[in-house]
Amino acid sequence: MNPAPAPAPAPHPSRDTRPGPARPPRRFERGGRPPQGRGGPSRPGSASRRIQRILRRPSSNPTRVNRTADYFPEPVGPTSVRIIPLGGVEEVGRNMTAIEVGATGDILVFDAGFQFVSEEASPGVDYILPNTRYLEKNAARVKGVIITHGHLDHIGGIPFVMPRFGTPPIYTQKLTSIMIQRRQEEYPDVPKSEMVEVEVGQSIVIGSTRVKFFPVTHSIPDSMGVSIETPQGNVVITGDLKLDHDDSIPAEHEVKTWGDIGKDKNIFFIADSTNAEKDGFSIPEKRVIQTLEDIIKTVSGRLIIGTFASQFERMICIMEAAEKFGKKIVTEGRSIKNNLEIAEKTGLLTIKKETIIPAQDIGNYPPDKIVILSTGAQGEEFAALMRIATRQHKYITLTERDTIVLSSSVIPGNEIAVQKLKDNLYRHGVTLIHYRSSDVHSTGHGNTGELVWINKQVGAKFFMPSYGYHSMLRCHAKAVEQSGFPKENIVIPDNGTVIDIEDGERMHVHKQKVPSAQMVVDGFTIGDIQEVVIRDRQSLAKDGMFVIIASVALKTGKLRKSPDIISRGFIYLRESQNLLNEARILIKKTIEDSTRNMNPIDLDYVKNNLTDVMAGFLFQRTNKAPMVIPVLIGM
Ligand SMILES: [Zn+2]
Repeated sequence: MNPAPAPAPAPHPSRDTRPGPARPPRRFERGGRPPQGRGGPSRPGSASRRIQRILRRPSSNPTRVNRTADYFPEPVGPTSVRIIPLGGVEEVGRNMTAIEVGATGDILVFDAGFQFVSEEASPGVDYILPNTRYLEKNAARVKGVIITHGHLDHIGGIPFVMPRFGTPPIYTQKLTSIMIQRRQEEYPDVPKSEMVEVEVGQSIVIGSTRVKFFPVTHSIPDSMGVSIETPQGNVVITGDLKLDHDDSIPAEHEVKTWGDIGKDKNIFFIADSTNAEKDGFSIPEKRVIQTLEDIIKTVSGRLIIGTFASQFERMICIMEAAEKFGKKIVTEGRSIKNNLEIAEKTGLLTIKKETIIPAQDIGNYPPDKIVILSTGAQGEEFAALMRIATRQHKYITLTERDTIVLSSSVIPGNEIAVQKLKDNLYRHGVTLIHYRSSDVHSTGHGNTGELVWINKQVGAKFFMPSYGYHSMLRCHAKAVEQSGFPKENIVIPDNGTVIDIEDGERMHVHKQKVPSAQMVVDGFTIGDIQEVVIRDRQSLAKDGMFVIIASVALKTGKLRKSPDIISRGFIYLRESQNLLNEARILIKKTIEDSTRNMNPIDLDYVKNNLTDVMAGFLFQRTNKAPMVIPVLIGM
């Protein structure tokens, strides 16, 4: 998937196999009342009591890891190969696959991505990472990490996860290595791996295991697949890929690459499923580039093209075409500038210096001589395109003569943001061209027509669809099966599934999975997801909070004065004086009732009681369940 910084949907909760208590009910039915709500303020409903009990649980639980024994299988036997997808097979993103060769004892890791998360599912969490506990446990045997290409769902996790299993060397091609190093610069305190630059066509030994690299077609240059040699046969892993083709006839270089792979004895094949829900062949990138070139050539006013910064080839072709037709280019957005710098450094971009002009010089040229290349086609709030659309850009103001091309698809989860962007653009009366109206975007991932063709060329005995949500893996498996591949030789994994291929002949899928709970990057912390923290954030976002501050005389159990109430995001207090007065009376009564005949006074008990009572009361009166936080000061 294209790694533009965009929220991706979180995994479906039902796939959540993390240990721990069940989630609380998310909310009561609107307009309904909590069960047993008739009991009045002094007898709050059991559901709200349950919510409050969950809310009261400590936010961090260091013993969590020990609650269920984690599964760490013994090393695989000498005539077997083990494959463990650690991430990326229940989602798009956080790709990581471990391959363990019995003959050498080596573990090789393929990719170390992360996944962007949606604010709604995990508020405040920055990224989700693959779970690397299996690798941590076996760190001494992890001989290297091979990165197939430079997209963030394949490299994004590197600074966070590599130090957890001994910072082994990274093997990758030139462009990818530069992109990884660029990223590492943002984390100067993190230990860095040795970077080994490799080339496709090359075959090298990592640890004691021989691997060879081969080129694949994807939306970023220097994308590669890898074949891992074992005495029983090879394991082939594709990374992300599509097929270069003309009207569904694979290009010659594809026939050659895949034909060569197919000459080996391949026992296991792992391939990209991201676009497996689509049949046939995807639009080849060259058609997109041709369309864009036609637009650049013929458009009469100013042209603004919004795209992903990771689309190196496309950006380069746009710039070359602009130069060819005597136009000047303005680049907008840090990621585009960064990646063009990388493209120049690696010799991919070779246009004249004076072709690129700064935005403030736009006025010095006629509009039809200007092409603006911009980030933000996903409707990102602060990206250049949105700033242009909302008149916040210093030098670029839209007019009716402008043409805007959104050279990208809409990443799931961004639909509303993109709609907003389109509306804002249209308010200026511009002409808008997008992927639904014209071939201005193609995916980097093959449809089933391509995937099945590739699968046939490789001719492996066993097959595992990878990279994508479960539905995508299923569709990939189905298509391959329908092409004649034996169903019993296909494995559809979850994150953490352990697959052993014995003697190159038999597939054994372990009943248990290695640890696969999501690891999250939350500000400066990295760790297993803390469900309680996330739930607190969701609850705060939904119904706000209600803080009670009261001082209790420890001798008598009486309140020293009327309690203070602070609330945020719950109700507007100034317009709720009646509710507040009733709440104060109830707080006083609850505290004093609970402390009656209590000696010494147990403030924790009183607090719990108060939380339950007030949560029930507030829910009954407002149909909202704010987080109730009592602060009792004993004096
Ligand atoms: Zn990719």
